[in-house]
Amino acid sequence: MALIVQKYGGTSVGTVERLQAVAQRIKKTAQNDNRVVVVVSAMGKTTDGLINLAKEITSNPSRREMDMLLSTGEQVSIALLSMAIQELGQPAISLTGAQVGIKTEAEHSKARILKIETKRIEKHLSEGKIVVVAGFQGISSLEELEITTLGRGGSDTSAVALAASLKADFCEIYTDVPGILTTDPRIVPEARLMTEITSDEMLELASLGAKVLHPRAVEIARNYGMPLVVRSSWSDEPGTKVISPIPKPRSLEGLEITKAVDAVEFDANQAKVALLRVPDKPGIAASLFGEIARQNVDVDLIIQSIHEGNSNDIAFTVMKQVSAKAEAVAEAIAPSLRSNPQAINEAEITIEKHIAKIAIAGAGMIGRPGIAAKIFSILAGVGINIEMISTSEVKVSCVIDEQDCDRAIEALCNAFEIKNSPMYLKSQESLNETEINVPPVRGIALDNNQARFAIRHIPDKPGMAAKIFGALAEDNISIDMIIQSQRVKIINDLPTRDIAFTVAKADFHNAKLALEKLTQTLGCDEVLVDSDIAKVSIVGSGMVGHPGVAARFFEALAKEKINIQMIATSEIKVSCVVKKEEGVKALKVLHEAFNLAGKDKIEVPA
Ligand code: ADP
Ligand code: ASP
Ligand code: MG
Repeated sequence: MALIVQKYGGTSVGTVERLQAVAQRIKKTAQNDNRVVVVVSAMGKTTDGLINLAKEITSNPSRREMDMLLSTGEQVSIALLSMAIQELGQPAISLTGAQVGIKTEAEHSKARILKIETKRIEKHLSEGKIVVVAGFQGISSLEELEITTLGRGGSDTSAVALAASLKADFCEIYTDVPGILTTDPRIVPEARLMTEITSDEMLELASLGAKVLHPRAVEIARNYGMPLVVRSSWSDEPGTKVISPIPKPRSLEGLEITKAVDAVEFDANQAKVALLRVPDKPGIAASLFGEIARQNVDVDLIIQSIHEGNSNDIAFTVMKQVSAKAEAVAEAIAPSLRSNPQAINEAEITIEKHIAKIAIAGAGMIGRPGIAAKIFSILAGVGINIEMISTSEVKVSCVIDEQDCDRAIEALCNAFEIKNSPMYLKSQESLNETEINVPPVRGIALDNNQARFAIRHIPDKPGMAAKIFGALAEDNISIDMIIQSQRVKIINDLPTRDIAFTVAKADFHNAKLALEKLTQTLGCDEVLVDSDIAKVSIVGSGMVGHPGVAARFFEALAKEKINIQMIATSEIKVSCVVKKEEGVKALKVLHEAFNLAGKDKIEVPA
């Protein structure tokens, strides 16, 4: 007899008819000799409606009262679903997060799950009942029963956490699309269904804007090796499997507060090429990386950020052996940039052959901004200057001077308590063995909920990134796409650099306040903000060791004359910031450029 956790999202239970259809499906699962625990979200757009009600009363509601309010949405749907199941003659019982004992941090509106009591659920299961649990909610203390919520979209996380705690055979996420698609079918109806995706890829996609799964749900599935499937509650199609590597056994205590960093990685065989002051116009990245790809040179990290006078710096790393080739390409392209009136005699190429890339990796750093801040402060603590930063949801990489590599590894291993020896960065090995033919691009995501910050003229010395991102982490603000300028500007005889990064719009206001306070004390010049941006990203573990993927990305945007404001890459993703109004177009042309369209159009139920 298998134990299955099924989660039904808001649209799947949006009406009485839908609740009844879902009840039928649950009954069928139970009749096939399974024990079933069901997690439900609030009906339809209930949560949005409750938020709007609160807004009518106050622009700044207390987070405690918001949790009290929002958690009611799920209480309605569990009761109704339980009644609908009972109506079919199948015993069922509904339970709130508090009744189950879903214990979370005392952090209203974004609490992480610490532990789930399973006794009461197991008792009801053994009585032959289907247990219907409210998603998205928990309690911060068994004594005071303070209600907490997990953050928008958090019912997925409740479901996978329950599945892990109950040691279920698998967890099914039922939603309004046939599974995980190459992109959001509401924007690109030709999106193609995937039969499977690795949890690493899904983590990136989910955190870059694909809201079909809550990233923390993927993290739990990955940490506990919980088989996870995303399917439509409208059909019997098998959906998409999220594949996780077999994990090390781990405790169910501190469920979402696991060790943040699993590994320290390094690669001392890299060189950095930078093009400074190139014109800010469409097509520059495309011509540079297009030519590099034609030379079959594999590029690792790429960053680009815009600067004063509307010119860009582009920097990238390659393996040392091919750095001369990469430099030659950059030199060959430079004259055409220099002849541009916007950049007369300004474009400049620098190459640095003595650099190393070091990185910390671990799914536990998702949504924990303090971890990135910590790597910067550890490096600063041992006097190491950071030349380039690249972040993804599960990794923070820094380019540093080759001479500092050993010291950096030692300091990071000590600070993050990494006992095993640091891994030489060789991402190809981490690919799932069954997935040798993984496509270079698995999916594309668009995120319209980001804002960009740029801090000008930060003194170029160790410790500045640590202070900036440390201050943001203190306010629990997650950052993404951190880009440090490659050019150095001398101000009052001291070298300075700019740092740009993106944050979620929801954190925009707090981030602005924190930064304005900070820049005065750090002696930086000004903080520039832009919330009219969109971030488009391609994700795929097959892009490792596959030259030309980034070039194709930039060429597709250049063809449509879409200007790229920022570029940041990690091993398995390329992200670009473009103007907000060009986001949808960018997503569409990329989907086409990587031939991701399926045969049929996806229809999303209204
Ligand atoms: P639920 O209410 O079931 O939790 P959500 O609205 O949270 O559903 O998530 C499902 C939606 O995610 C889909 O309707 C689709 O618009 C959107 N989506 C975004 N990116 C993707 C993707 N790559 N694959 C599938 N759906 C996606
Ligand atoms: N009802 C909550 C929300 O709308 C949780 C969820 O649906 O996952 O965000
Ligand atoms: Mg959802």
